[in-house]
Amino acid sequence: MSAETPETRFGFVAVLGAPNVGKSTLVNRLVGAKVTIVSPKVQTTRSRVLGIAVKGQSQIVFVDTPGIFAPKKRLDRAMVAAAWKGAADADLMCLVVDCARGLDGDTQRIVSGLAGTKRSAVLVLNKIDKVRRDSLLALSAALNRDGLFQDTFMVSALGGDGVEDLLAYFARAVPPGVWHFPADQLSDLPQRLLAAEVTREKLYLETHQELPYALTVVTDAWEPFRDGSVKITQSIFVERESQRAIVLGKGGQMIKRIGAAARTDLAEMLDCKVHLFLHVKVREKWSEQREHYALWGLDYDA
Ligand code: GDP
Ligand code: MG
Repeated sequence: MSAETPETRFGFVAVLGAPNVGKSTLVNRLVGAKVTIVSPKVQTTRSRVLGIAVKGQSQIVFVDTPGIFAPKKRLDRAMVAAAWKGAADADLMCLVVDCARGLDGDTQRIVSGLAGTKRSAVLVLNKIDKVRRDSLLALSAALNRDGLFQDTFMVSALGGDGVEDLLAYFARAVPPGVWHFPADQLSDLPQRLLAAEVTREKLYLETHQELPYALTVVTDAWEPFRDGSVKITQSIFVERESQRAIVLGKGGQMIKRIGAAARTDLAEMLDCKVHLFLHVKVREKWSEQREHYALWGLDYDA
């Protein structure tokens, strides 16, 4: 008689929520590593980045969707379509709400969208460190009025409060199944894309500019060397000469800082020495160009 092997579980959890509610922070915390871009600016998550967590016998894949908001431009529409597609494909849906912001228009729209899917979801009230307990309970009651949520969790993605309980819940909730990824794999994003995300994050943090769509980063080359180091060459595309000047900074100081910060993160992520070469290029209207959409897994025609 063979010993009984414990049953493994596997599933996808779609993380939905308005821009800036803390979805990326939560996924990073759940996965326990920096996987998706976290930024104080809105709508920096352009692609459906996956974070993969292992808890006990369960492997849980988090789909950190682009923020679902009112679409106006083509890129907005593509992002919204990608977000709902991610949700529909998942085993579980999880709505993240910034409890300091409450039930605003963005969140209301997503709640309506969720109701339309006719599937139950999990409610995560995030940023509990920012509000008083009584307002938290009132918000929870308001959101739970329609019976849309099978469970409610109150967490601080930033501080970590409640996140372990949430992870344990997901581990129980995903269906039985074989793991789809190696146990140590944290993200299925190709390394080049991940490396581009790192640089893009530094661009936002260092320039303090509201340029959400004005720039994109592409990894052009990836050359491993015999000594274990890697040479990464990236292009930063901006739409105007004036934006190029901002990114370069006086005497190239800005791009130097961005490069240094990105290199530090990349070296830690890849666990090797990194030689990073950044080129800032002006290319008008990149957000209307089809090739970028495919690269980011978005549907140009959404
Ligand atoms: P996303 O757009 O939903 O992915 O949001 P991000 O994860 O990028 O977070 C947006 C901002 O909220 C960042 O500045 C985070 O540091 C902050 N944030 C996320 N979670 C918490 C939290 O639990 N408490 C507080 N105080 N801030 C948080
Ligand atoms: Mg995000």
